[in-house]
Amino acid sequence: MADWIEPHAPGPHTVVERLDPDDFAPGFHRVGVHLVDDATARPLLAPALVARGAHPGPVVGITAAVHGNELNGIPTIHRLFRTFDPADLRGTVFGVTIANVPGYVRHDRLYPDGKDLNRVMPGRGDGDESAVYAARLRERVLDVFEVLIDLHTASFGRVNTLYVRADLRDPATARLARAIGAQILVHNAGADGTVRATAAGRGVPAITVEIGDPQVIDRAKVRTSRIGIRDALESLGVVTADAQQATPNAVECARSYWLYTDAGGLLEVTAPLGAKVEAGDRIATLVDPWGQLLRVYRAPEPGWVVGKSTNPVARTGSRILHLGIEGPPPG
Ligand SMILES: [Zn+2]
Repeated sequence: MADWIEPHAPGPHTVVERLDPDDFAPGFHRVGVHLVDDATARPLLAPALVARGAHPGPVVGITAAVHGNELNGIPTIHRLFRTFDPADLRGTVFGVTIANVPGYVRHDRLYPDGKDLNRVMPGRGDGDESAVYAARLRERVLDVFEVLIDLHTASFGRVNTLYVRADLRDPATARLARAIGAQILVHNAGADGTVRATAAGRGVPAITVEIGDPQVIDRAKVRTSRIGIRDALESLGVVTADAQQATPNAVECARSYWLYTDAGGLLEVTAPLGAKVEAGDRIATLVDPWGQLLRVYRAPEPGWVVGKSTNPVARTGSRILHLGIEGPPPG
């Protein structure tokens, strides 16, 4: 081997048919959960880290890359697990680093059949490709979780603050969401078909954490979210408090929505990410290919910039800005 290459020998992982805490002795484990097979009859394995505590406690599931190009959650899980000591841990933490394996290898948000796995939950055991994958992911991985933290990023051409979506009307879910120390918490009951809504439908506290941008690893955001998720586990009593604490001072939004362009052109979103805007503040401009101003977009009401477009090539109906409206969740 060339002398500029330093080889390391990774440890093995165990192939399992489903995640079950009772199958694991206290300590750390690496597994691949067999979900489906490819056309060479080779099993596709969802990689997962397991930390089984020496003491009884909840089963916590952390999932990343349900959208296959949303990568920041993967090293977040890797680094989070390095902070654990199984002798002190209460319960079991499963960290599923790549939930959408076929999407991940294709650098694609979607499942290869063009469906969004986070819209087809709970899936169908006798369904088509994405439906059966979703059903197996649910039965073999997600259904055992008693708490769910689902890690995402912005989609292509957009940027997000570090923000959490959760049903803030549920006290246990709200506690979990607040412990993360995100910039913004958005109350959201959860659309049907999502991993989060499926877990919440079983009565499980479930939150979505949005960490930065797609198809990159952002070390600073990974660090912040790793600390916040550790704090969330501390709030559940799974781990004891360590020296690093997130600052729990998120702006809480009762609702949020996207603003879209009503014409096409070159879009520049001038409102800063994470900023507060007042009604009437200029948030974006649209120019034509000759540089002539077509539109000035202004904030329709006071709110917070949860996310925004970074892709200037805007057709009619392109996303401009994700506006969060501060306030308590609707009673
Ligand atoms: Zn996503």
